[in-house]
Amino acid sequence: MRNIFVLFLLLGAVKPVFPQNAKDFTNATFLGKLNKDISYLELKKKVVSGFVHAKPGRWGEFVNGVEKEIHTQHKYIAFTFDACGGKNGNGYDKELIDFLHYGKIPATLFVSGKWIDANFTAFMNLSKDTLFEIENHGLNHKPCSINGESAYGIQGTSGVEEAFDEIEANALKIKAITKYNPRFYRSATAFIDEACVKMAGELGITVVSFEVLSGDAVAFIPDSVIEDNVLKSIKPGAIVIMHFNHPEWHTYEAMQKIVPKLRQMGYVFVRLKDFEVTSDK
Ligand SMILES: [Zn+2]
Repeated sequence: MRNIFVLFLLLGAVKPVFPQNAKDFTNATFLGKLNKDISYLELKKKVVSGFVHAKPGRWGEFVNGVEKEIHTQHKYIAFTFDACGGKNGNGYDKELIDFLHYGKIPATLFVSGKWIDANFTAFMNLSKDTLFEIENHGLNHKPCSINGESAYGIQGTSGVEEAFDEIEANALKIKAITKYNPRFYRSATAFIDEACVKMAGELGITVVSFEVLSGDAVAFIPDSVIEDNVLKSIKPGAIVIMHFNHPEWHTYEAMQKIVPKLRQMGYVFVRLKDFEVTSDK
């Protein structure tokens, strides 16, 4: 009897830090479960039926309804970092994240379902860091299109149903893992059509693009150019786009130079969820 009691104590002690099992949340498993979930299927049917005859509208990074800045008169700016996932996109720039963490730099992290699958433990840790806001970068990192457009050679969603899953399934996946309900969505590559923007709106999700393009994703770009790109375009309310899934890029080195300069200029760093965001409309 006493041995059994000791065994229970031991079992309690080796309980995993995170009760979630990564396997339950992979894109394939999670979407499979949603496709048997009555409330998901009913919502999908309702939303998709409204787009049967819809035209895609304009295709781009700044189409109608996409937000690119924070509504503020103050010197607030939002650093946003994407984690795209997939082949060549599953890396984790821990140096950059540590720099943000120890420098007390709040940031918004746009994360795809694919990247979560490849970095489950890192993702859990990020979601528990109160400096960071986790938002939605799409289930399979496909630019959101209702007619199969593509951008930068990345094939977009093929139709309305896939576009729905790309947005809503990843929002639900993030919520299921972290208990946080994502409110913002940045389409893969930031390209999106106006029908997808409208669909996201019906799901209570705001589509976010960017005001300042850091250019960290440009091949072989040095940190000094990323720094110039940000400093020359910065203004109150700007949303800056960068990445945290490519440790071999120079995002971290550039941020080491950018952050003290912006602080000297009086800028304060914020997360999107702390503010209303708005486009120029
Ligand atoms: Zn991306």
